[in-house]
Amino acid sequence: MAKYTNADCRLCRREGMKLFLKGDRCLSKKCAMEKRPTIPGQHPNTRKKPSEYQTQLREKQKVKRAYGLLEKQFHSYYVEAERMKGKTGENMLSLLERRLDNVVFRMGFAPSRAAARQLVNHGHICVNGKRVNIPSYLVKVGEVISVKENKAKKDMFKAVRESRIVVPKWLEFTPEKLSGKINSLPARDDLDLNIEEHLIVELYSK
Ligand code: SF4
Repeated sequence: MAKYTNADCRLCRREGMKLFLKGDRCLSKKCAMEKRPTIPGQHPNTRKKPSEYQTQLREKQKVKRAYGLLEKQFHSYYVEAERMKGKTGENMLSLLERRLDNVVFRMGFAPSRAAARQLVNHGHICVNGKRVNIPSYLVKVGEVISVKENKAKKDMFKAVRESRIVVPKWLEFTPEKLSGKINSLPARDDLDLNIEEHLIVELYSK
């Protein structure tokens, strides 16, 4: 019998790894990567050794899809990272991690980056007490991220208040207050995705 797998799960199957796009479902037995971890499509490419270009492309697609970005947006982070001092790949990942929607997800306000983006878009999130509804806003050291006061009583935040989420060390979070702080800029070790960012840099610098 055919099984229903929606588009998000197809992205994980295409990249051959869990991208955690669907919140709690990703940790359950319903995860498509648990049930059918094969490349989607009728005739998936079964070549054993992918070309150098394919390897680089897949790495870029993996990261782009994990953060839920379109090509133009994603490439703009590479351009910005190239202008910065230090390693371009690490700079790019640091910029991606600093996006407000990602921080909201990391702090556990939402079960996925897509849900976090919706919270930001709908004006539920404040930075230093002021409402910010731009998911791509880049957080800075010392900024406080919280839920807008008149939204904090909503049922959807009850579970967050009672959660015991472990946040990356560049962040701190107090669930009872629905509030967290940026302690430092994210370092390379803080990323939990298995990423070879040098492949993305090689692809874009061709
Ligand atoms: Fe679907 Fe999440 Fe599993 Fe990916 S990790 S296949 S989005 S359930």
